[in-house]
Amino acid sequence: MPSTFIPNSPETAEGLDIVAACPECGGGNSWRLLQTLRLCGYCGSALWWPRDPGRPGFLVAEDATERPEALLDVLQTLDAMRERSRLIGLLADRERANGKIPIDRSDDPTVPSVDDLKGERRHLFALDADYKVLAPYVLISSTLAFHALGRSRGGGLKEFRNLFFQLEEIAPAYQPPWNFRDRGLWVAKQRLRPFAPADFAFRPIARRDDAVQPERLATRWLRQRLLILPDLEPISFDSSLIAPNPWWVFRPFHYVRARTPMRDGWFLVDGQFGNVAGYPDADEVHRATARDWTPLDTREIRGAAARVIGFRCPECGADVPLVERTELQLCGNCGRLLAPSPSGLTTRPYELVDRASIPWWPKSGGVDVAWLPFFRVELSVTPAETPLLAEWPECWIPAFEALNVGRYDAWAFEWAGALTRIRPERCERRFYLEEPVEKANRVVPAAIGWETLRPLLPRLLVELLPKPAQTRLNPMILKKIFAGRFDVKKMTLVFVPAPVTTEGERRVLGPSSAVGWVPLRDGKWPPVLKRDVRRALERGKELAEPEDEEV
Ligand SMILES: [Zn+2]
Ligand SMILES: [Zn+2]
Repeated sequence: MPSTFIPNSPETAEGLDIVAACPECGGGNSWRLLQTLRLCGYCGSALWWPRDPGRPGFLVAEDATERPEALLDVLQTLDAMRERSRLIGLLADRERANGKIPIDRSDDPTVPSVDDLKGERRHLFALDADYKVLAPYVLISSTLAFHALGRSRGGGLKEFRNLFFQLEEIAPAYQPPWNFRDRGLWVAKQRLRPFAPADFAFRPIARRDDAVQPERLATRWLRQRLLILPDLEPISFDSSLIAPNPWWVFRPFHYVRARTPMRDGWFLVDGQFGNVAGYPDADEVHRATARDWTPLDTREIRGAAARVIGFRCPECGADVPLVERTELQLCGNCGRLLAPSPSGLTTRPYELVDRASIPWWPKSGGVDVAWLPFFRVELSVTPAETPLLAEWPECWIPAFEALNVGRYDAWAFEWAGALTRIRPERCERRFYLEEPVEKANRVVPAAIGWETLRPLLPRLLVELLPKPAQTRLNPMILKKIFAGRFDVKKMTLVFVPAPVTTEGERRVLGPSSAVGWVPLRDGKWPPVLKRDVRRALERGKELAEPEDEEV
């Protein structure tokens, strides 16, 4: 009996969230794994939940089998499914004996349903003992970046791409001989909550100290060329894991002794998924039911929780509207850029580019403005073996959340490459105050942290080269470039105006291509364009299969 839950479609990779009580009113709010700001859905408080990768938070998976009836139901369901298969087998045997070919009876209404069988056989079940334990797992949430030289799909031209994928992975963190029969474990669409003092009563098992090794957990993805196959036929590539965020997740299991028609004895029930994970032997039962139990050190448990912070502009005192997609907020009154801190909001500098600096600004016709955030980076590059890049006094890197969205990612780099060549003038005008943001215009949130992109710098820069220069790249040249030293002399966040067409399907215009405006404006991406490792692997496999047949 597998203990695994494998999603039917990669679509289900969304929706992994943590339900945590608001410290102000106690209301349960749900948070995406990496979300750090939100409004309480009950009392409206601004909540901030900073993550510290060095101190993973403690979470508990919800137990679907807390009550004895729920545990019995798990056993009854397994029994009824087996009984139904047995009845169908008997009918098939009879048909074969009569010289007929057995028909598919999985939907046959004349065979009693699982529910019917459960009802009929209820009196055959009794629960004699239930020992709950909490088994530790490590969950990482991260972005996987591929840096690939290859031939583009369609055009066949050599180009360099940085492709970003959302990655979540969970792995056991308990010591052998504990064994919870994990295989292909995935916790998509599961509810998690912060570890609470009451959970100590449920026998949390000690964690393996060395369990948090993001690179090891992500091994199967780091070298997986199928992920990038939908975008290009790779010649060479490497990959990096960006800002991996670990969590400890305790999953509930029950060692259950029961009398059932299947057997009288011990069952291991997975409380999170509500199924029978296996049949523990005497040693396992002894371990799980032992009187002496090494308790978890209470000091270890980090209070994984959001805190309430003031959301007033420190400059003008105005209430700041909270935007959940980003850490960096904008005061709608004085136009200050604001970042959360333990003492409330603090200001961050930024600059603006004038629309006269954008060569592809339409000469005629009405357009709205999308203000796109970029990191403008002044570099010194050594050694001179990297002449391609050494001549650049500055380069521009996208800071908006389109990097792991198909088509939008290439478009964002198209912009960054053009800005790197144009080197537009900047000024210190402020939104609202000096640069009006009319209702139809929007400031796109700066949702990517510089510290997460900084380590990727040489690899990001190669995609900024003009396309003709990219066709001359080869693995030797890349090796030399990546061996160079890239010292950041200065980094500034700059908002650049992008024209948005106002007629028909609204599009944001870039140097040579355009993308749909509404998804970028609202941060709601068509699922087919979102890059996550599981979905990309499925797509890559579809592409790889026809080739395999030819071989
Ligand atoms: Zn609240
Ligand atoms: Zn203000």
